[in-house]
Amino acid sequence: MPFAEFHGNPDVVRTAREMLAHDRFPHAVILSGPQGSGKFTLAQMIAKTMNCLERPTTDGLPDYCGRCANCTRIAEADNLEERFAEAVETRENLRDADKRETRILVQTHPDVMVIPPDPPQMLVKVDQVRHVIGEIYYRPSEGRERVYIFSEADFMKEAANSVLKVLEEPPDFATILLLTDNPSALLPTIRSRCMQLRLTALSAKEVEDYLAEVRPEWKARERGLVARLCGGGLGRARSFDLQQYLAARQDALALLAPAMGARDHSDLFKVTESYRAGADGKSKMDSTIRVLYSLLEDWLFLKSGTPEMVRNQDILGELKRMAEQVDFDWIVSATQRLGELESGMRRNLLRSLALDSFAASLEKS
Ligand SMILES: [Zn+2]
Repeated sequence: MPFAEFHGNPDVVRTAREMLAHDRFPHAVILSGPQGSGKFTLAQMIAKTMNCLERPTTDGLPDYCGRCANCTRIAEADNLEERFAEAVETRENLRDADKRETRILVQTHPDVMVIPPDPPQMLVKVDQVRHVIGEIYYRPSEGRERVYIFSEADFMKEAANSVLKVLEEPPDFATILLLTDNPSALLPTIRSRCMQLRLTALSAKEVEDYLAEVRPEWKARERGLVARLCGGGLGRARSFDLQQYLAARQDALALLAPAMGARDHSDLFKVTESYRAGADGKSKMDSTIRVLYSLLEDWLFLKSGTPEMVRNQDILGELKRMAEQVDFDWIVSATQRLGELESGMRRNLLRSLALDSFAASLEKS
């Protein structure tokens, strides 16, 4: 029951499936919604349903089997991040002349194409749209419908004009899906030719329920923490490295402890010593810096009387006690120091020394 695996926005999913049931799915759809709301997942589900060889019915509406030749080949693009990285790497390895002419496209089934934004500008370019135009008017070869998914519909000007031309006269057997978190950035002439389906962000509660299914080994308060840290993004929540986060948070709290009045600095030095040079130390450092930002932000929420916004809810009591030791100005200056620490890391300063001096600067100010 694959559509049953989509989380959140049940009304939008139902609308899409009802249009599929009545063969009224529009040729051009803007699928909008914040990051993590499942735009690409839903687009892939629609492409599979359109082309599934079995096309089962669930809850009285069309679904896809997930096992037939069409479903499995389309599903190879489900992990878009990986396919995108492969396509970029392939292009990097080309000769310079070919490199300039090669555009990034992801096609794992002859009738379904994903058009991601093209690096380094991360915009859809006119040559990518030309590829779409080059094949969209041919009948589907192995499925029933040609599907073109623009995974982030940010177009360069010329590309937008080309898309507009296709939208004026799309063939009967093709569907264009424009995915965006900001539909108002699209040309009004593009918007007026598309139907819009809007996904909303998942609530922390919806993400927690989802985590209860896929991460039963986590404690309820850990699931609550991850749901808040991931801001409604299911993909991020599922693959969240909780152990790494908790370890980084422990370090971050130890770094801040002297500024909160702790006299004994031995814990601090034990922590900073463990930040080594080299690649390993880098990812450890990056996550600690991210956690420090989130802790400082949580204190701002506490100071401004909105404790419900605090993301590290599982240590709310500890954060409240610490917040009493500092004032608003301290939080602002600590955020500035953290920015300096971050740019120092880009200049390859010694990590342990930089952390020592960061902790010391908070104590003085
Ligand atoms: Zn199928």
